[in-house]
Amino acid sequence: MNRTHLLFELDALLNASSFKDYCPNGLQVEGVDSINKIAIAVTASLAVIEAAANWGADALLVHHGYFWKGEAAPLTGMKFERVAHLIRHNINLIAYHLPLDAHPTLGNNAQLGQKLGFTAQGQLLSQDLVWHGLSDCRTLGELAGRVESVLGRTPTLIGAPDALVGKIGWCTGAAQGFITDAAAFGLNTYLSGEVSERTFHEANELGVHYLACGHHATERYGVQALAAHISAQFNLECRFFDENNPI
Ligand SMILES: [Zn+2]
Repeated sequence: MNRTHLLFELDALLNASSFKDYCPNGLQVEGVDSINKIAIAVTASLAVIEAAANWGADALLVHHGYFWKGEAAPLTGMKFERVAHLIRHNINLIAYHLPLDAHPTLGNNAQLGQKLGFTAQGQLLSQDLVWHGLSDCRTLGELAGRVESVLGRTPTLIGAPDALVGKIGWCTGAAQGFITDAAAFGLNTYLSGEVSERTFHEANELGVHYLACGHHATERYGVQALAAHISAQFNLECRFFDENNPI
């Protein structure tokens, strides 16, 4: 498939131009013109680039690419090594950040809710990246067990395991700060990927149970759903390269 055509389709599908983001969305590093094999990953780390190159990928499609707002611009050190590897192997780097979090069916939040068996009811008015709904888990301990069995890692739980789960909110990645939005919306339980020292106090004082389920672990599903969608539509070969990132 021609690269320009693929990028046009991805941008349209994810409505990429409508987002104000901290990084460029779409093509970040140019590689070969014709794309048939796409490696999929959460983050374009050096290990993932090496695995993609060994597999013979024409493109690497990720959630976390490069060129973040505020980072040092020079292509030196670690950043140079990553980009140099991509260029040496003629691999296109394609990244979608917020558009991939937000997509109503393929996005990270939609996919995480589905995996954890939540019934989605909508998004918060103050922060539309946070979804809210209901869980069939009765207690916080049950919900933590669900997270562990689905995501394959033990969540950090702030709250008593026998506490009842009421209205629940979730947002993948490093969205622990939105716990205040969750509280203002009247949710009693909130899930995200990461956790900060202050989150413990915020959860206790706001009266919201909190589960930190892993940034990487919660953001594995959007990019895979996107890949499954485009591989079926355009007959592309996609392979997901997971990493054992405990954060
Ligand atoms: Zn993220």
